[in-house]
Amino acid sequence: MRPEILNPLFAEVEALKGVGPGIAKSLARLDLTRAIDLAYHLPTGTIERIHAPAASGALLGRIVILGVTPYEVRAGAGRAPTRIFAADADGNTLTLTFFNNPGWARKQLPMGEKRVVSGRLDAWGDEWQIVHPEVMEPAAATEIAIREPVYPLTEGISNKRMRELALTGLERAPDLPEWIEPSLLAQQHWPAWGAALAMVHSDPSEANARKRLSYDEIFANQLALLLLRQVARRKRGVPLQGDGRITSNLKLPYQLTGAQRRVIDEIRGDMAQDRPMLRLLQGDVGSGKTLVALLAMLEAVEAGAQAAMLAPTEILSRQHYATLQRQCEAIGVRVAILTGREKGRAREAVLMGLADGSIDILVGTHAIFQAHVTYQRLGLIVIDEQHRFGVSQRLLLSEKAERPPHLLAMTATPIPRTLTLTVYGEMDVSRIDEMPPGRTPIETLVISDQKLADVIDGLGRHLAAGGQAYWVCPLVEESESVDAAAAEERAALLRQRFGSEKVGLVHGRMKGPDKDGVMASFASGDTGVLVATTVIEVGVDVPNATLIIVEGAERFGLAQLHQLRGRVGRGSGASRCILLRGSTLSETGRARLALMRETNDGFRIAEEDLRLRGPGEILGTRQSGEQGFKVATPEDVAELVPMAMGDARLLLDRDGGLASERGQAARLCLYLFERDAAVGLLRSG
Ligand code: ADP
Ligand code: MG
Repeated sequence: MRPEILNPLFAEVEALKGVGPGIAKSLARLDLTRAIDLAYHLPTGTIERIHAPAASGALLGRIVILGVTPYEVRAGAGRAPTRIFAADADGNTLTLTFFNNPGWARKQLPMGEKRVVSGRLDAWGDEWQIVHPEVMEPAAATEIAIREPVYPLTEGISNKRMRELALTGLERAPDLPEWIEPSLLAQQHWPAWGAALAMVHSDPSEANARKRLSYDEIFANQLALLLLRQVARRKRGVPLQGDGRITSNLKLPYQLTGAQRRVIDEIRGDMAQDRPMLRLLQGDVGSGKTLVALLAMLEAVEAGAQAAMLAPTEILSRQHYATLQRQCEAIGVRVAILTGREKGRAREAVLMGLADGSIDILVGTHAIFQAHVTYQRLGLIVIDEQHRFGVSQRLLLSEKAERPPHLLAMTATPIPRTLTLTVYGEMDVSRIDEMPPGRTPIETLVISDQKLADVIDGLGRHLAAGGQAYWVCPLVEESESVDAAAAEERAALLRQRFGSEKVGLVHGRMKGPDKDGVMASFASGDTGVLVATTVIEVGVDVPNATLIIVEGAERFGLAQLHQLRGRVGRGSGASRCILLRGSTLSETGRARLALMRETNDGFRIAEEDLRLRGPGEILGTRQSGEQGFKVATPEDVAELVPMAMGDARLLLDRDGGLASERGQAARLCLYLFERDAAVGLLRSG
């Protein structure tokens, strides 16, 4: 339960003075439903007004405060605005223009009486005009603020009103004890929480106060992640240590890279502990994560346990199954596959084998963790390419074994270091930062889609020379049917040119077996071009595919483009990636595509993507909803996450139950940012 001291802040906006259902509805459009939302509705900039004795050319474009005397009204016919002419102190004519409420305007500006107006001075033809000025009686003019913070607005609420509302929300902020480490606070010269909020509302350029608010938010996030980890670690797992009797017989066609060797050592080190492993393996597409997974699973098998490998798609499950089968058959390790497609007898056999322990390694889709699937002694879970594998799913998996299994998550999505901490704060991270030898870097070209015909000609030459190619269709919208239609259209065009047997098509609307059939005939070389929506993002290895063409490239995230590009260049020959871009490309779009041309380094691309698009985009909408920061910008995340992580760790080392005075304050911070679930863990633990 939320501590009482915070209740006023979490009151609905309707409970605030002067907020009726109408305003509440407008506020809801900005997601402002509680007092705390208003208090955290921060201004984005400041209007500066100038007291001017009279209008002048030098003041054009500025917000002026000006004394005038109205002398003529020209009512607008139809939709034309009402214009009121007024003279300033120098006798210049000023046009005051109103697009609505003419009656109100006339009442505010009676002819021949002095008034003070404020608004932006514009030139309109050879006239000076102010559109929708604020109007005051001369005596009231002294009250107008020279500097006024501006807030994000929605229809029906003026800036002035929004500011009043924000300040009403702010009034509800209680004095809270400090949760930031005192030395850090002193070193950063940060104000206290309530003071920081007030400072940003009175001066939006208060960078230091704003940073403190960002820090609070990030601190709550990191602390919650660490608490999850603490809970996960409290249960004892089973130490698994192989003796090499199986792996020594393994015949690999190549040497492990140094990076593969290093990460497998890290993994073995973890698995030998009775504390369950929680490790994330990051490595670019093609860096050889599958082999690392195999070695980890064999380690478990040698130690007498079973291993399960979860893949996000049917296709990838089958590919892994084939790879593992090839390696394991010769060394007497039994591998099985389980997906939604295994039915009847085959399925029964797998379930039996898992329960009686005759299956050592199981690979498959989510089916492998369904309720009726029981393992005899599950010791290791490998999760491939699923960076959205949440904590709740992990809890579910741990029920598959008496003691929590070791967990290895693998991803090629190059999440920037700083975001790794926000997303995987509770995991240890290993990185494969080296590619297997002999790969030729992929050459990337950015070409306007007006040259489509030339690109198709080039594709023709590539096919004639015996090459294969992927053709990835634009992501039109977040709608599978629309994307599928675009892919179908493109396939039809290419079939006209190259013959239908030469062109395969896969998209998300196709059934599993159909997809597999198309992939299989591409993998065997029967089809020359595979037209696809992004379903090939994680897919099957086709060493002969050395050309990839991505249409509407500007619509993809950089990390996604990088992943797609990783589909080619798996062999030793030269490979090429053509990014077809639309003609209406923004500056940022241009910079992003240029970066793709410049580098093949997934991590650099990820850092740049973070800078250009922000963390929300990179983590995906689901994640940004979960991790979404209200105050913290991507720059804040980059700068403050390491600091917050250190601070949170220190706090938990000293006071794991958050029972001390500062611990209690930190709990408030968790509640403030709605990381209530993490506090729940504390209680139950
Ligand atoms: P990813 O990290 O994308 O999952 P994979 O595990 O699919 O990469 O490996 C990509 C390719 O590299 C596979 O064909 C694999 O056989 C090969 N490979 C893996 N490790 C090495 C190595 N040390 N030397 C040479 N080739 C390797
Ligand atoms: Mg892989």
